[in-house]
Amino acid sequence: MSLDSKIPHGPLKDKWKNHKDHMNLVAPNNRDKIDIIVVGTGLAGGSAAATLAEQGYNVKAFCYQDSPRRAHSIAAQGGINAAKNYQGDGDSTYRLFYDTIKGGDYRAREANVYRLAEVSANIIDQCVAQGVPFGREYGGQLDNRSFGGVQVKRTFYAKGQTGQQLLLGAYSAMSRQIGKGRIKMYNRHEMMDLVIVDGKARGIIARNLVTGEIERHSA
Ligand SMILES: Cc1cc2nc3c(=O)[nH]c(=O)nc-3n(C[C@H](O)[C@H](O)[C@H](O)COP(=O)(O)OP(=O)(O)OC[C@H]3O[C@@H](n4cnc5c(N)ncnc54)[C@H](O)[C@@H]3O)c2cc1C
Repeated sequence: MSLDSKIPHGPLKDKWKNHKDHMNLVAPNNRDKIDIIVVGTGLAGGSAAATLAEQGYNVKAFCYQDSPRRAHSIAAQGGINAAKNYQGDGDSTYRLFYDTIKGGDYRAREANVYRLAEVSANIIDQCVAQGVPFGREYGGQLDNRSFGGVQVKRTFYAKGQTGQQLLLGAYSAMSRQIGKGRIKMYNRHEMMDLVIVDGKARGIIARNLVTGEIERHSA
């Protein structure tokens, strides 16, 4: 059975952009009527939960650790790649896309990697705005190093603790939303099953790892 990865149609460069341009929107004043469950609070889930909450949705975030700060993302060391071409060495969205596809032994989904390369530059700006202390040159500019066998310098880093600093950034953005009541945090909760109604994900079954109780959560 082949997986339906639901990648949009069209030329590689336009797939996700066109999809985003034609998606249904939710008006800002309707967002607090919608509950969203995010399972996982590493760099992926933590930043998704913080962003969705900031947009006005009600978010329930789950992780099995005692704190979102203990997600495995904390272990990442080398840095984060972005096609900003600060070093003027000919970098581009396409080059980051191609290096990433090649580095993944040509097994990654091309449209998704292209989108990652496209948004990489904004992600660095977002992290800087969140206070992530990326390494800088003496003049104050963000520094880059070459990482992972690529031909340009495009890696933004925070010494050998990039993952830790990024996770602290995502965690503080989450904490702000927890304080505002927009995110309800479920630490020490393990998702056990997904609840599907009429083909759509509508909730999860989770175990409270402190009490052992089985809980159901809708969204
Ligand atoms: C040593 C190391 C070095 C690395 N260096 C780099 C690097 O230099 N550059 C780079 O780009 N990448 C690097 N990576 C890879 C990168 O860190 C990871 O791909 C990325 O951090 C994964 O983020 P994530 O949010 O998807 O997952 P994770 O951070 O692993 O988070 C998973 C989350 O899901 C939750 N979870 C999982 N299962 C359940 C469940 N059943 N119920 C409830 N919650 C659940 C966990 O509690 C956790 O919160 C490195 C990885 C390692 C290990």
